[in-house]
Amino acid sequence: MNLQIKTTIPKFQQAFERAQEVLDNPMFWEAIESEPKFEHTKVSPREIAKLLKETNHLITIIDWKPLGLQAQIRYRKTNALTESKDVIKMNVLKDYREIIDIAGTIIHEGVHAIDQAHPYLNFGHKGNKEKGNKNTAPYCIGNLAIRILKGTYGLNNP
Ligand SMILES: [Zn+2]
Repeated sequence: MNLQIKTTIPKFQQAFERAQEVLDNPMFWEAIESEPKFEHTKVSPREIAKLLKETNHLITIIDWKPLGLQAQIRYRKTNALTESKDVIKMNVLKDYREIIDIAGTIIHEGVHAIDQAHPYLNFGHKGNKEKGNKNTAPYCIGNLAIRILKGTYGLNNP
């Protein structure tokens, strides 16, 4: 996963650095590979880890502000949007979140970008409800990143 960031928000820059730190941590890759399976996909965690490591096109993270009241209502729960394999749009209205949580969002969206780079595969989530999200590759891998950064991975927590 080859990420770069173009942001004016220091917190997003710091979150990007934490996300890079996770990508350089062997524990992160072992954690993905040791998951038994992800929901809503036929691709195994081991294969997904390999795709995340080896898919090397440049993904650019940019600032994004939903414009107008309607968009702000529509995207009020949206931390970021990834509509192509090349660009991750970070919602600047969500910059109050913890740096580690924003780093988790960057990893989550990175999984979407790599998914989109392989149209014949599919390892996203279904909509944005609990049922369609649970144990999917983007959510599970984003959460692993957060737990590793917080130092809680491997401790007795779900
Ligand atoms: Zn997502």
